[in-house]
Amino acid sequence: MSGQLSAAVVPGVVSESGAALQVGGLEWVSGHSEAGFATAHAASWQWQPLVKPNLKKQPEGVWVRFDLGSKAASAGRWYLSLQWPILDNVRVRLFYPAEDEWGPLMQAGDHIPKSLQPLADHNLVFPLELRANDRAVVYVHVQAHELMALPMVIFDETAFAAGKFTDIALISLFFGGMLVILLYNSSLFLFTRDVAYLLYVLYLLSALFYVLTITGFGQLFLWPEMPQIASRFYALSAALCFFTPLLFASRFLNIRRYGGWPWLVTWVLMGYWGVVILVLLFAPSLGRYLMAEQIALVHCILTMAAVINLWIRGNSSARLFTIAWSTLLLATIVHLLALDGMLPLNPLTLHGQLIGMFAEFVLLSMALAQRINQERDRRILAQQSALQASEALAHEREQRLQAQQQALEAQVRANEALEARVYERTRALEDAKRGLEMVNEQLTRLSITDALTQLSNRGHFDVMIGEEIRRAQRTETPLSVLLLDIDHFKRVNDSYGHPFGDECLRLVADTLRQYGQRAGDVVARYGGEEFVMALPGMNSREAREQAERIRAAVAALRPVHDGERLALTISIGVASLQPPASCTPTQLLASADTALYRAKHNGRNQVAVAEPDEAAELSVS
Ligand code: GH3
Ligand code: MG
Ligand code: MG
Repeated sequence: MSGQLSAAVVPGVVSESGAALQVGGLEWVSGHSEAGFATAHAASWQWQPLVKPNLKKQPEGVWVRFDLGSKAASAGRWYLSLQWPILDNVRVRLFYPAEDEWGPLMQAGDHIPKSLQPLADHNLVFPLELRANDRAVVYVHVQAHELMALPMVIFDETAFAAGKFTDIALISLFFGGMLVILLYNSSLFLFTRDVAYLLYVLYLLSALFYVLTITGFGQLFLWPEMPQIASRFYALSAALCFFTPLLFASRFLNIRRYGGWPWLVTWVLMGYWGVVILVLLFAPSLGRYLMAEQIALVHCILTMAAVINLWIRGNSSARLFTIAWSTLLLATIVHLLALDGMLPLNPLTLHGQLIGMFAEFVLLSMALAQRINQERDRRILAQQSALQASEALAHEREQRLQAQQQALEAQVRANEALEARVYERTRALEDAKRGLEMVNEQLTRLSITDALTQLSNRGHFDVMIGEEIRRAQRTETPLSVLLLDIDHFKRVNDSYGHPFGDECLRLVADTLRQYGQRAGDVVARYGGEEFVMALPGMNSREAREQAERIRAAVAALRPVHDGERLALTISIGVASLQPPASCTPTQLLASADTALYRAKHNGRNQVAVAEPDEAAELSVS
């Protein structure tokens, strides 16, 4: 501020028209809060020079005084500005020694409603009226239950107006910037639902609350008429400014995951500040037992160490966090050193904390943005790997499907091949079976057939005759048997050769076959040149007639040998069974044989029928 003439200790004065105001050294004394201004002026207290603006805690209150001399040619007005506006109650009164008069009593402070204060300013401002070439002693009584810092400046009217403008411009910049960060992070919270942004916004709100309180702008614009509540705001907002960044940091830096002492420190401090906030809200009178100032110092050291520890352990967010946190810490230390008189008290050192705070929030926003980037990268990476995984899965499924398809096709082919083979085998088996059946049939036929004549053989006839006898008896139908023997066949063989004999046997057989064609008729070669015929249903007479026809047919054959027609005859013995009479095959054949023997004996080429006594013999058996 160009128009400001100030030192850390002695309030200065600024004038557009040169040094029109002389300000004497400041003196102070603690206590005497019950005393009035007249007593302060009259009594001989132990006044001491005020060498630094920070008086720490002064629960008993202090008195401050200094001389003021005007060299102006006319009456003028100056402004005493106390730039630590969270003092509880500041009363100011001017004593004019020349007139032995007191000026009006003025009051300001966060315990005093703004409407009762002499001027509407964010600082505590008192107008100082002086006549031309006049002198005055300014008495100031200050009460503060918290830190008592007395950075004072005296302005002339022009400089005061200019300074006010600068103040408003700077603070507007600060709040505007903070508001942008606030809105930005609020919208990030709304979009991402990440609690870290919400906690950051809470921290930001706490910081705004704190700045509004310590600059006095809160009392000026937001809560001018509620001093009984507002007087607690300084402690409350400060406690919130310790509590909410812990909440934010524990979430943002994921301190729980890192564990160890930083996690313990975070929890203990969070618990402590939580209790402080509750006490300040519901039992403010206990606030002085909390040792908040000392703990605040420990807090700063521990949290700094914790974020550095996390940084070293590879927490990427902790780096920016440490830088941000150090910025604020540095600004706060500068601010405290200035209040302590170790650094010059000027707008930079007085409001440096605000600059540090703004820088911190910008840096933290950058850290959050970095985190968004990291998370986006992580998300993209995760999406990519998810995509790859799903592609791999699809590929695998495709392969499995293909394998299944191939297996299925192979199975179908195998089934087809198997079916074909089974079909082939079945065919082969059927063929083999048919072949076997044919062979069997042949074998059967062969086994019952005489090879030379193709008539039934004797074995077959023996089986058939038994059956025909049983059938005849069952159906009570007659059954006749012819036994036939070629006459003098030995001579044929002897005269014309055995092959011709065979030829004759076949001729006779063919003739016999023609007379034994009814169902049930059996014609067989009985052995050598003997034949036998079973004629079911024929009685003795019919059989005899049939035998006669056979005999005649054979006799008519007259086989030719070397152009010579030979006489070939047969003799036939006939035996019949007339149920209910019964007999065995042997008996029946024996009786036919007897008849045959008689036919031979009677001259051959004739039929002989078994005699009745022979038949009687049959029925007896
Ligand atoms: P008879 O009138 O008394 O029956 O006189 P026969 O010569 O026919 O009687 P015998 O029983 O003494 O002779 C049967 C002859 O039949 C003897 C044998 O040479 C001939 N013979 C037997 N079986 C066969 C054969 O399979 N083929 C040929 N060529 N001759 C046979
Ligand atoms: Mg014979
Ligand atoms: Mg014979």
